[in-house]
Amino acid sequence: MIQKKYDVIVVGGGASGMAAAIGAAKTGASCLLIERYGCLGGQATTANVSSYCGFFTHGDKAQQIVKGVGQEVLEELHRLGQYDGYTLSPVGNAIVALDQEAVKFALDEVLFRYPVDVLLHCRMVQAEADRQTGKIQKVVCVDDQDRYEFTANAFVDATGDANLAYLAGAKLRYGDGTGKGQASTRILMLDRVSPDVRFKPAILEEVLTKAKRDGYKNLTKESGIVFRVNDDTVCAILPSVWVPDLSAKTLTACERNTRRQAQEYLEVFHKYMPGMEKCRLISTGVQLGLRDTRHVLGEKTLTGEQVLHAVKPKDSVARGGWPCEMHLDVNKIAKYIFVDNDDYYGIPLGCLKAKGWMNLWCAGRTISADPTAFASVRVMGCGFATGQAAGVAAALSQGENGAVETVQRELVRQGALI
Ligand SMILES: Cc1cc2nc3c(=O)[nH]c(=O)nc-3n(C[C@H](O)[C@H](O)[C@H](O)COP(=O)(O)OP(=O)(O)OC[C@H]3O[C@@H](n4cnc5c(N)ncnc54)[C@H](O)[C@@H]3O)c2cc1C
Repeated sequence: MIQKKYDVIVVGGGASGMAAAIGAAKTGASCLLIERYGCLGGQATTANVSSYCGFFTHGDKAQQIVKGVGQEVLEELHRLGQYDGYTLSPVGNAIVALDQEAVKFALDEVLFRYPVDVLLHCRMVQAEADRQTGKIQKVVCVDDQDRYEFTANAFVDATGDANLAYLAGAKLRYGDGTGKGQASTRILMLDRVSPDVRFKPAILEEVLTKAKRDGYKNLTKESGIVFRVNDDTVCAILPSVWVPDLSAKTLTACERNTRRQAQEYLEVFHKYMPGMEKCRLISTGVQLGLRDTRHVLGEKTLTGEQVLHAVKPKDSVARGGWPCEMHLDVNKIAKYIFVDNDDYYGIPLGCLKAKGWMNLWCAGRTISADPTAFASVRVMGCGFATGQAAGVAAALSQGENGAVETVQRELVRQGALI
């Protein structure tokens, strides 16, 4: 058993986790980041999520609302020739298109500039906590060789699925709390697609509805986001499923189900879409893309009202501006509800702190938000922002240093927009 102590431990190396680790390190804390896969990036590099959303507000006058660590990542992607500003989607969403391999490399380059201990291929399997005092004492992790016991003053749950909070015994909501929530989706990468093919939702809907009528029983979404990544490669966000829990049994069934759907979508593209007769399914990702699973109950909870009316509270530590993107029906394209006046909203520090816990902070998909607000904050641009804020807050959380003004001052010093 290998043992070590840190000021801050971050579990999860997605957008939010890497930002949290850098935020903590820049604040002067000793920090460990644990990631179970072999690369950073979370769903961007393991589930084929091919664009950063949430760096900018909506509309043709989009303004940048996430800087700090997120900006460093954009600059690194620019250096690699992979970022030159946002593109506007047909509904006016400002997105940053991603090349998965460039993202993996860029995140390594950025994170390893800082004094953070990083363990890839390391999985947290246990958290020891005193639920009376609300204090996590240690996490137990394993790799293929050793077992580790890591203790820390503060912990950041950046696991997407609130795995740390769950193992510690914190109060959680699953999905929308009523047994429903946003569908999860497998993202398909297809190549050998003729440059003439257009992916308007109406065209897709006609093709996929006909295929369903003709007996393709495994298809779900009749329309969805399908876009061209380069001259002959396309990203299709279609095979969907509701994931009711995170047991291996359930996830195995969901992985198989959406891989079966992927094959059927491929057959349908071959048969029904001119220009796709010879397309190949080149990737379905390492895992199904999980949207809406466990959420931490925070000292504060961001509401849909606050998001849609662009409320900017005094204790804001991060900005969001992505519309509420709701995937509530596995068969239908997502619905968007836009923030008033294409503005941004502020995320209070209390949404990042687990209620009743002294040293448990949340970042990215795990933060405390109602189902409507979650539909906006879950994107990765916003994840960089909440991650950096959680890392700074965790690093400063001893005694009086944890006051919101101190956290805000440090975030501004680090170049974040709050
Ligand atoms: C189909 C789909 C399409 C999407 N499209 C977009 C989009 O276009 N743009 C956008 O910005 N967002 C998009 N999103 C949302 C976005 O991908 C996620 O909400 C986002 O990845 C959340 O970031 P995160 O850092 O919170 O978590 P994640 O990206 O999920 O990262 C969490 C990390 O924690 C690690 N981890 C978990 N448990 C453990 C453990 N026990 N031990 C060690 N490591 C652990 C995981 O391996 C993972 O790397 C999409 C989501 C889905 C599902």
